Amino acid sequence: MPQRSRTKPWFLFLLVLLLAVVGTVSYLGWRQYVPGVRAVTQAPRFLGHNASFTVTLEAARGNVRRAEVRIVQGGYVSPGGALLIAFRAADASRVDVSVGSRIFPSFAYGPADKGARVALIALPWDFTAGTPLAVTARDEANNVATRTVPAELKPRPFPRDTITLTDAFLQAKVPELLPQRAPTQPLIDGFLVINRDQRRQAEEEKIKIGAKTADKPLWEGPFTQPRNTKVFSNFAETRTYVYQGKPVDTQVHVGFDLASTKLSPVPAANAGQVAFAGPLTIYGNTVILDHGLGLQTLYAHLSSIDVKPGDKVTKGQELGRSGTTGLAVGDHLHFEVLVSGVSVTPIEWWDGKWIRDRVNKPLKQAGLPEIAGVGEVPDEPVARSTAAPRPARRR
Ligand SMILES: [Zn+2]
Repeated sequence: MPQRSRTKPWFLFLLVLLLAVVGTVSYLGWRQYVPGVRAVTQAPRFLGHNASFTVTLEAARGNVRRAEVRIVQGGYVSPGGALLIAFRAADASRVDVSVGSRIFPSFAYGPADKGARVALIALPWDFTAGTPLAVTARDEANNVATRTVPAELKPRPFPRDTITLTDAFLQAKVPELLPQRAPTQPLIDGFLVINRDQRRQAEEEKIKIGAKTADKPLWEGPFTQPRNTKVFSNFAETRTYVYQGKPVDTQVHVGFDLASTKLSPVPAANAGQVAFAGPLTIYGNTVILDHGLGLQTLYAHLSSIDVKPGDKVTKGQELGRSGTTGLAVGDHLHFEVLVSGVSVTPIEWWDGKWIRDRVNKPLKQAGLPEIAGVGEVPDEPVARSTAAPRPARRR
């Protein structure tokens, strides 16, 4: 694996830096008990596609020895995609993974004596090269150790579309979604409040719901797209809204629109627990299922809901029926996969091979239990032999 050999010099470089930081911090602590010491290796700017994320080391306030972070596996990432990171963080009381300013929780995983943790992270659709991915560990004295996650960025193109707003649509939707609107306010102005403010409110609500998640995977096997549904809108489609021939708004659609017959049953994409069931601004009647470790699926515009928060559901169980509630033009299911409230493309999670490669492989390499139902991760004799000198690097 070329990736591993490329990260090796960085790893050694990091070790040297870590020792330097520990030394510096210990010395300063002994001399004058001054908090806030930082040693940062500046990540070089991105030069183009497929550049590696580079290593940053930061130590603030005190001794980082007790907050060791050792990343087992990173990998390639794409905007609008997810990534599982497995690592060890000795003696840390709290470990988070960050993508730019977004924080993703990590969870203790596998046998306790291994001390391993995993985190599922999402790169938002508008993720740009150079945004650092980092693991931050804190010990009980609030000592901090940060390492960036080595990963390669693969760009992914997203579609564009135009939506023409008719008066009939505005008359049908604006009073429903904005009942407090003054009767003198033009419908199009009401629509813009809904399309901007209510959309943002829903995004914030998804982040809050995403924080309430099981500390272990509740799912297995690939996620499923409802049978006999046709994709008529893709993930991260930039939509220009046109009214009376003029563009009036631009928003990004962060889900898949799946059309079938009217009022068709909406099945759970995988096993999980109902985290939310009810109206959610532009999404209309919505169900959000929690699958654990921050992974959730969202089902919107439902005409009816058959489950309530806390219910455990099996894969394929009917959650409700499709409909047109919220900002929906015709009867369809709006489906999203969320990682700690951030929408990612469902295509990855519908694909058993992707789950095997991107979720189970890092788990296997870290010696941790894999997700069932997506087939075996093949052994890699080549990777094993190049990893042979590893024990020599142990501290
Ligand atoms: Zn949609």
